[in-house]
Amino acid sequence: MQPSLEKLRKFFRLEHSNGYADSAVIGGLMKILDFWAGEARNDGIPEEVIQAVTGTLQDYGGMSPEARAEALKNLWKQIAEQIPDAASDAKPVSRTEEVQPLEALPITPEAGSPAQPQKPAVVNQGPASNPPKGKEPNRPSGPKKQGAHPGSKVASHPGGGSKTPIALNASLTVLAGVGPRHAIMLARLGLTTLGDMLYYYPRRYDDYSHLKTIRELFFGQQVTVIGAITTVNSRQARNGKMSIFEAVINDGTGGLRLTWFNQPWLSNRLKVGDAISVSGEVEQYLGRLVMNSPDWEPVEAENLHTNRIVPVYPLTANVTHNWLRKLMTQVVTYWAPKLTDHMPESIRQATGLPSLGSALLQVHRPDSQEQLQLARQRLAFDEIFFLQMGVLRQRRDWRAAAGRVFEVEDEWLDARLAALPFALTAAQKRALDEIRKDLKSAKPMNRLLQGDVGSGKTIVAALGAAMVTKCGAQAAVMAPTSILAEQHYHTFLKGLAGDGGLMPPGAIRLLIGDTPGEEKEEIRAGLLDGSIAIVIGTHALIEDPVAFKDLQFIVVDEQHRFGVEQRAALRSKGANPHLLVMTATPIPRSLALTIYGDLDLSIIDEMPPGRQLVETHVLTPRERERAYMLVRGQVKSGYQAFIIYPLVEESEKSELLAATQEHDRLQKEIFPDLKLGLLHGRLRQDEKDAVMLQFRSREFEILVSTTVVEVGVDVPNATVMLVEGANRFGLAQLHQLRGRVGRGEAQSYCLLIPDHEDAVENERLTAMAETNDGFALAERDLHQRGPGEFLGTRQAGYTTNLRMASLSDIQLIEKARLQAQALFERDAELKDPDNQLLAEALQRFWGGRKGDVS
Ligand code: ADP
Ligand code: MG
Repeated sequence: MQPSLEKLRKFFRLEHSNGYADSAVIGGLMKILDFWAGEARNDGIPEEVIQAVTGTLQDYGGMSPEARAEALKNLWKQIAEQIPDAASDAKPVSRTEEVQPLEALPITPEAGSPAQPQKPAVVNQGPASNPPKGKEPNRPSGPKKQGAHPGSKVASHPGGGSKTPIALNASLTVLAGVGPRHAIMLARLGLTTLGDMLYYYPRRYDDYSHLKTIRELFFGQQVTVIGAITTVNSRQARNGKMSIFEAVINDGTGGLRLTWFNQPWLSNRLKVGDAISVSGEVEQYLGRLVMNSPDWEPVEAENLHTNRIVPVYPLTANVTHNWLRKLMTQVVTYWAPKLTDHMPESIRQATGLPSLGSALLQVHRPDSQEQLQLARQRLAFDEIFFLQMGVLRQRRDWRAAAGRVFEVEDEWLDARLAALPFALTAAQKRALDEIRKDLKSAKPMNRLLQGDVGSGKTIVAALGAAMVTKCGAQAAVMAPTSILAEQHYHTFLKGLAGDGGLMPPGAIRLLIGDTPGEEKEEIRAGLLDGSIAIVIGTHALIEDPVAFKDLQFIVVDEQHRFGVEQRAALRSKGANPHLLVMTATPIPRSLALTIYGDLDLSIIDEMPPGRQLVETHVLTPRERERAYMLVRGQVKSGYQAFIIYPLVEESEKSELLAATQEHDRLQKEIFPDLKLGLLHGRLRQDEKDAVMLQFRSREFEILVSTTVVEVGVDVPNATVMLVEGANRFGLAQLHQLRGRVGRGEAQSYCLLIPDHEDAVENERLTAMAETNDGFALAERDLHQRGPGEFLGTRQAGYTTNLRMASLSDIQLIEKARLQAQALFERDAELKDPDNQLLAEALQRFWGGRKGDVS
């Protein structure tokens, strides 16, 4: 088969094995069109076939996985009809094809040349081109021939234009020793260009510069040790639910026992006599030093002698560490020092961080832990800096538009406040005041209203909306679920249309998926003619063809539950409307300023008075009876309870199983006389809503649920939150769960039961028992575990570009933020020639997206 077809088939196979995720080629399968058509013509493939391929792949990225599978199948069929060779050659691509050792590595100097010469195919040509493996260990691993290679000049300053070394965009096949097949494998790691290689960070390091002997170890140390396996043993734990694999390694100074849980396959991987390196914390068991579930790797003899810190890269099938490391070493030692730093000198000096080239070199080939840390800091600094530049631009773009001015008199506002059944807290007043100022600023408001669960955000939003509707314009409120939308609807009605209220109840309407067709019609008409002032709803608001007469105020509740596009869709129904997004996720201020830098921030950091603190207790599994007694007692007094089960495994099926089984057990054995409801992730949204409504209307006394219990749902009559397997939850999640109770007058309880005795001391559980303050918990969580959790996985969007930066490094974040801000004030567009490289790097970081990360 012609090489170009062979190549195509490999990409197709890769796509197939990747589930048609369009991940076989970085940037999408259509990227291969750049070079494929040319190669195919060289191979004499009929033009018809070439057209069919390019035609199909052009749209590939936009198709669903099903459509992609279909498209590739048909395409190959078509090819096979034209080229019988392609049909008959059914030899599968072997998944175990060995990667050839990398030879003759010097980077070809033509790296940047647009007309890439056909490289002599020294690689995949069979044994002749491969030196005997035995020679391997003697070869020094540096790019020793590099200087000697004829014409190894670097295109770092090609005539005029960009100062970015063009070669960074060069495909990896320019590296001698990397053929198309290697390129495909590297592409699976996201590596298609030299630049990708430089920014392909190690996943961790093995520090062979300070190897410890087993005899030197002591309790509590975090170490890597090397030894040969002397014994192995696998067994089942007593309850039969857990498998245990044990091995002892010996390094000549002593033995160390290693234990892994539920990894039965290790018995096939680790055999007596194997040399392995293990990294982990030294623990103590029955007076002996042990390691539990350490990271391990077979020892590559080569590393033992390097005496240095060795990078460990993420790998994929068919790529070996040795091979990748060598390739990396060559690319990095040759190219990193030649990079021109994109960070302006003034900023680099101010921060005292190493240059880009030196940071990249050190990150791949650290000379010491200190150098490595500095290098990581520099690369992390860049990421935060870019992030911040993006949000600053977004903010400027927001503010470039004109916003309608809405002004209300003090008397009007005082009357509104007097009509409420309660006085606003000082924090609510402050937030409302900030909104009021925004509304008369002549710029569209873009404000994030942050406040812990129960802090009273809704009424603030309602009063904000009223300031706008008072002047004849309209407001829309979007919530993630219909039950929340309904809850807001009632708050708005009570707050704005109650006795002596501002508007007739009919001026506030609810639009959700379940709204009957006729009523939807009527609401649409009312919004169009302006007789409806405020509409509250779900996604239905953007899915439905609702149009407004004059939409000027938008509220998005639980903003992280919506995508950027969804918020934009709602915004586009008005002309530069004012936007208020709300979240109950407490984010420490410094962090919020960075990742929500495009928004102004209001924080409600105070609870309405009289709120009971939820009494929180950590119980051992053996004390579960006590928890049940409390539940029973509360139900007897007319209250209700939640019982939450963790997601035991990732699969929905087992989640379902856990909750259903527990529901049945509790119903039959523990609470046979009570009514128990069941809520889990397998239910459709409307089914979940139905269950929640039944619970709220007291059809159930106890709701057994997985974590799907909706954020923000108000069941004031529920006074107990019992969380099983509590050690499996993060602080943020626990705090959200606890927020489901303590919403009424009565004292409420949160009972946390970890799934084993030892976890009672769990830091998070202790923290929960110590404080009810979401912000305090967020700070703790941030310091203990990084921000992933409090930000929530749905908000991970903006952190995907942060591969080096940890959002828990507040000092670094602050530094990068201040520098970015200062630069933005000097040269927002990065027009200064000195900032040109930076502009390009920023462009690469955002990949064409804007900084709308909210
Ligand atoms: P969240 O901030 O979690 O969205 P809500 O807006 O749902 O909180 O408010 C929670 C409850 O507190 C509601 O029942 C609301 O009526 C009540 N509430 C809000 N503000 C006050 C206040 N200042 N004083 C007393 N109760 C309040
Ligand atoms: Mg709310």
